Amino acid sequence: MVAGERLARYGFPEGHPFGLDRHAAFYGEFAARGLDKRVRLMETRAASREELQSFHTPQYLDLVAERSRTGEGYLDGGDTPAFRGVYEAAADVVGATLLACEEIMAGKARRAFVPIAGLHHATRASAAGFCVFNDCGVAIEMLRRNHGLKRIAYVDIDAHHGDGVYYGFEHDPEVIFADIHEDGQYLYPGTGREDEIGRGAAAGSKLNIPVPPGADDAVFDAEWPRVLAHLRKFSPEFILLQAGADSVAGDPITHMRFTAECHQRAARDLAGLAEELGHGRVVGTGGGGYNRINIATAWTAVVQGFVEAPGLGS
Ligand SMILES: [Zn+2]
Repeated sequence: MVAGERLARYGFPEGHPFGLDRHAAFYGEFAARGLDKRVRLMETRAASREELQSFHTPQYLDLVAERSRTGEGYLDGGDTPAFRGVYEAAADVVGATLLACEEIMAGKARRAFVPIAGLHHATRASAAGFCVFNDCGVAIEMLRRNHGLKRIAYVDIDAHHGDGVYYGFEHDPEVIFADIHEDGQYLYPGTGREDEIGRGAAAGSKLNIPVPPGADDAVFDAEWPRVLAHLRKFSPEFILLQAGADSVAGDPITHMRFTAECHQRAARDLAGLAEELGHGRVVGTGGGGYNRINIATAWTAVVQGFVEAPGLGS
């Protein structure tokens, strides 16, 4: 797992739902369950400008760097405020996801989790929805660039549609996308209709599953096999999971009613699928989640799912 003080610095001040206490909310439960004895912990590193530029435009990186110096204004229309050092904090989040991927590609880890990551709304050219840099987008580009991977899967069970990843790769047939989210008619960002399946050569590589407000575990259990079947069709060489805790009942800004069981099942099944595919490569990210108890239970459930899936040896 990549976690610690540096990663904890990504958050927004003054009562913002994406506050600075999210890492501690998770880590307390992680340690209380004794998972700190079973999981190797690493401190993050900063993603370089070159790595960030594999996904983001140079103009956007310049804008974040400038606002990071002054700490003033917003990085988007009003959801994502700048603060002093926001560039560095956001680059550390991307670095954490990249480090998790590198450890796996180097054979030093079988699977990994990164709590304050999975910032799925950031587009190639802008911040959005509390997300400054899109760590999963950068990770997909860097896995291809450094390791020549051809088919990378991105699975998202956050309440919000992973629009930054979807539109970032909408025309790209090599990114296998599957996303269960609250129907965009009722929740930000409003996208992710069932008929958004990718465009051009990528048509069919993307699966969007909008579910109604109040969707519970029975809905998840009914839809989840479609995600696994979609991935199986493409035999991905690496799997990224965005396991947002805001799809759990009681989140203050969404309306879904999953329990953390869904997060545990998603983690366990994707780790199992990765084993079945012969490589075992899966990285989970924490994504959204604004109820601190749900952050604690859903994210530890992901770690638990990874720990109990087959393939780790004795
Ligand atoms: Zn979310």
